[in-house]
Amino acid sequence: MYYEDLSISPVKNNHGEIVNFIGIKENISERKALEEILYKLANTDPLTGLFNRRVFLERLTQESERISRLGGSAVLLMLDLDFFKRVNDTYGHAMGDEVLRQFADILRKNSRSIDVAARFGGEEFVILLPSTNQNEAFIVAERLRKQVSDIAIEHPKGIVHITVSIGAAELSEHDVDGEIVLNHADCALYIAKDSGRNKTCWFQDVK
Ligand code: GH3
Ligand code: MG
Ligand code: MG
Repeated sequence: MYYEDLSISPVKNNHGEIVNFIGIKENISERKALEEILYKLANTDPLTGLFNRRVFLERLTQESERISRLGGSAVLLMLDLDFFKRVNDTYGHAMGDEVLRQFADILRKNSRSIDVAARFGGEEFVILLPSTNQNEAFIVAERLRKQVSDIAIEHPKGIVHITVSIGAAELSEHDVDGEIVLNHADCALYIAKDSGRNKTCWFQDVK
C-alpha cells in the first residue's frame, strides 16, 4: 500500500474530440510521512505524545461554542503532580521524564475518544471531558488519582511513587467562557494542593 498522486489529462484528435486520457502517477508516500511528522510536531508534546496546549485551547473554544449553542455541560480537570521536583532531585531528570510518560499513559488509557487530554506545561496536565456532568467527572478524576498513586517504578535508590492533585470546574451555559473555566480549575487545584495534595477539589466548593 502506498499513497499516490494522480493527474489525468484528456487527449483530443484534430476535431477536438477526446480520444484518450493520459494519467501521470507519482508515489507520494514520503511526502505523506513527512506531513504526519509535521502534524505531530505541531500538535503534540514530544515527551508524552499528548496534545499540546495550543490544541487544547482550540478544542476548549470549540466545546464552549457548542455548549452556548446547544446547551449541556463539560468538565475541565487540571492535574498537577505532587512534589514532582523531589522526583527529579532524588532520582534524576530521566526518571522524572519516565514518571511523566507513565502519568500520560494513564490519562490516555482513561480517555474516551471525545475527551481531550493535553500537557499544559511542565508537569501540569488538563483533560476536557465533553458531555459530562460533575458526578461522572468526579468518578473519572478519582480513578485517575488512584491509578497514579499505583505507579511504582524501580530505581537503585528505591521505588518511585507519585501522587496527583486535581482541580475540577464545569463548563456550562452559565460558565461558558473557556478561559474563565480554566481559571476556576486552576483555583480548585490550588486548594487541592493547599489542603494536603493527592485529592480532587471542585471550584464551586472553594468559592
Ligand atoms: P507541588 O506539589 O506544589 O506541585 O510541587 P512540585 O515540586 O511538583 O512543583 P514545582 O512547580 O516546584 O516543580 C515542578 C517541577 O517539574 C520543576 C521542574 O523541574 C519539573 N519539570 C517540568 N517539566 C519537566 C520535564 O519535562 N521533565 C522533568 N523531568 N521535569 C520537569
Ligand atoms: Mg507539581
Ligand atoms: Mg506545577
